[in-house]
Amino acid sequence: MEECELAEMRAALVGKKKRKAKPRPEPVPEEYTYIYLLQRAKSMKVNGSRVLMIPPADCLIENHRTCFANIGKVCRSINRTPESLAKFITKEFNTEASFRKDDALYIKGKFDTGKINTLIREFVKRYVQCSSCKYFQTTAVYTKKYLRFKCEICNEVFRVEL
Ligand SMILES: [Zn+2]
Repeated sequence: MEECELAEMRAALVGKKKRKAKPRPEPVPEEYTYIYLLQRAKSMKVNGSRVLMIPPADCLIENHRTCFANIGKVCRSINRTPESLAKFITKEFNTEASFRKDDALYIKGKFDTGKINTLIREFVKRYVQCSSCKYFQTTAVYTKKYLRFKCEICNEVFRVEL
């Protein structure tokens, strides 16, 4: 009786082992995971930067309007939409602006390039740079009224009014 039960238990164990041995996706070894995560963390540190290269604004005054020709290029360098920067500029200058087919922004009124560059820096400080770790690697989500952005370096989340 006992022997029979033992044999059954063995059979059950073998059965279990066999089931476990069935081909399954191999679990990722712990070492690999650790190294992978470490390398990822290191690469993020390398990619993270407290220096942001922004092309200077290319502006031209014509017929009581200021043409901000390279707003697209500027916005690609700061990873934000031209619309959000345009909104900020018009609010600060208390004026109106519209985009033309060539992607240039036409701002009503005469504004010098230096002032626009200052506004771009201000925009970056408020809507791009992480105020916790001071890095610029942030990703944005837009809603009608707000801009929500998350820092890719320290994971801090910010919500600012646009
Ligand atoms: Zn941060």
